Amino acid sequence: MTMSKLFFNPFTGLYYILRRKPRKAPVNQEVERLRAQAKQELPPRLKELADEHGFTYNRVTIKNNVSNWGSCSSKGNINLNLRLVTLPDHLRDYVMLHELCHLKYLNHGPRFHALLESVCPRHRACEKELKTYKITA
Ligand SMILES: [Zn+2]
Repeated sequence: MTMSKLFFNPFTGLYYILRRKPRKAPVNQEVERLRAQAKQELPPRLKELADEHGFTYNRVTIKNNVSNWGSCSSKGNINLNLRLVTLPDHLRDYVMLHELCHLKYLNHGPRFHALLESVCPRHRACEKELKTYKITA
């Protein structure tokens, strides 16, 4: 239901109605729930994948952003989007393997793709499937 209130404007001498929009659902609660799940599930899985394929990273941070699923810095830090926990397991793994490969090549060149191919042979299909998922705030 929309709340309405009557206000008096002393400058115009007119009454006007201020209509208040219904309060939005608490989106932060959902984000915090996903963040808690992400913090619990993503770092151990990243460590597992790194150990399995011989990658060493510096630090992993769980991020709340809408611009990417993951990123990797030249300092060897990996950022993972907390929304990764909403993806199927194989896509979660794909994003993590993709970022781990960036530890060696900070670009999407042929050597990066050859490395990605060796650790994740289904990477092309995964990339295509990942595009069907939109990151929404
Ligand atoms: Zn990349």
